[in-house]
Amino acid sequence: YVKHVAGKGPSQSYIPSVSRLYSKEAYLIKDDVSDGSKSFKGHDMLAPFTAGWQTTEANPLVIDKSEGCYVYDADGKKYIDSLAGLWCTALGGNEPRLVEAAMKQLNTLPFYHSFWNRTTKPSLDLAKDLLEMFTANKMEKAFFTNGGSDANDTQVKLVWYYYNALGKPEKKKFIARNKSYHGSTLISASLSGLPPMHNNFDLPAPFVLHTDCPHYWRFHLEGESEEDFATRLAKNLEELILKEGPETIAAFIAEPVMGAGGVIPPPATYFEKVQAVVKKYDILFIADEVICAFGRLGTMFGCDKYNIKPDLVTLAKALSSAYMPIGAVLVSPEINEVIYSQSNKLGTFSHGFTYSGHPVACAVAIEALKIYKERDIPGHVSSIAPRFQDGLKAFSDSPIIGEIRGTGFILGTEFADNKSPNTPFPADWGVGAFFGAECQKLGMLVRIAGDTIMMSPPLIMGTEHVDEIISKYEKALRATEERVK
Ligand code: PLP
Repeated sequence: YVKHVAGKGPSQSYIPSVSRLYSKEAYLIKDDVSDGSKSFKGHDMLAPFTAGWQTTEANPLVIDKSEGCYVYDADGKKYIDSLAGLWCTALGGNEPRLVEAAMKQLNTLPFYHSFWNRTTKPSLDLAKDLLEMFTANKMEKAFFTNGGSDANDTQVKLVWYYYNALGKPEKKKFIARNKSYHGSTLISASLSGLPPMHNNFDLPAPFVLHTDCPHYWRFHLEGESEEDFATRLAKNLEELILKEGPETIAAFIAEPVMGAGGVIPPPATYFEKVQAVVKKYDILFIADEVICAFGRLGTMFGCDKYNIKPDLVTLAKALSSAYMPIGAVLVSPEINEVIYSQSNKLGTFSHGFTYSGHPVACAVAIEALKIYKERDIPGHVSSIAPRFQDGLKAFSDSPIIGEIRGTGFILGTEFADNKSPNTPFPADWGVGAFFGAECQKLGMLVRIAGDTIMMSPPLIMGTEHVDEIISKYEKALRATEERVK
């Protein structure tokens, strides 16, 4: 029952950067792979997004300490963390105000829950702060989760609950996009448009449909402008909705800029056109802001940048600058009103987690939000971003680079032969893995997914960090060019 319904245009079934994610050959390139921490080889963890052989044959990189934009491994080697952990340590590795907020809360009330109308002050305060901060569309309530995956699972349950209450139980299907990443739990992995997350896990769930990935470079037709590409994708989306029956489609979910799928900013006019289609057929819009929120794109939220007016919003990661695990769902007044009446009728809204609104996580998040505002983090990102983006995009003319793309503090590099998306390098050359290993040797951590390299540095990055990233990137690139020659 797998349904990947890519629209008309170049085939979207070929997704090299993810299908080669776990290639052993791509990682074990003789002695070129930068070694991790030897004393931890053959560890006891079933490690997330790690191949079996990696835990036995390769040394894991064990990170021991963090400081600003840097992390240190167990052997004391220093790395500039160009991915901010996993796109999340927005305020860097040792922000004392966050540590203090956690300590204070731990010493007062390390835990209490939020079930049955019992709750804690930090969770109430954080909900208030978030609703004030998110202005792209009015939001009425915040629901707290442990992270992004369970927040997106919550979105699906809320949407079903909402439509069931409205007497539209046939509105059950979700449309997500090829190459999107929405998390790893059953439903959020189903929403994700990455085949390795479905294969062998009996996913996606049958109520999830996938539409086109909005990657202009890879999928545009010859002579097609970005605007025309966006028009075609919106048309494909509309055709999919009509084919399935608009009365069966509950919601559309999208990241403002696709992150883990390879850093894919939307083509011009894309969200304007897609939102018009979704609205026309009474389909809810869920903005997955897990990576984009709190300044990463140079605006407080991704929705602000692309004029997205969502009905529901997913937050996590930078919400607490990753110092404590926490996610959130923001709910529009219209949806909240229906949920409110329905839960009154049923006697309870039967959904929640032990750690929904964990007071320590909320206290840290409250402090993080204060810092984003006080230090005008979105303004800081906007002012530094041109140096970061232009500095790295200057390498676009390298013969082994197909595309460098990004905005604000998020950037992807895709290696390709002949500068074309249709001629990738052979998988066993491990071009991306070699580049990533070179970066690691030089003291810089990047995200490697096949031949796509991703970066999303801490939002506190200054010009000196940008220059260090550019210099290490260039050295790694020249070494990779030499190897591919
Ligand atoms: N949504 C997006 C856009 C993400 O990038 C991620 C994680 O990378 C998630 C959801 C899942 O979040 P978590 O890993 O906290 O469950």
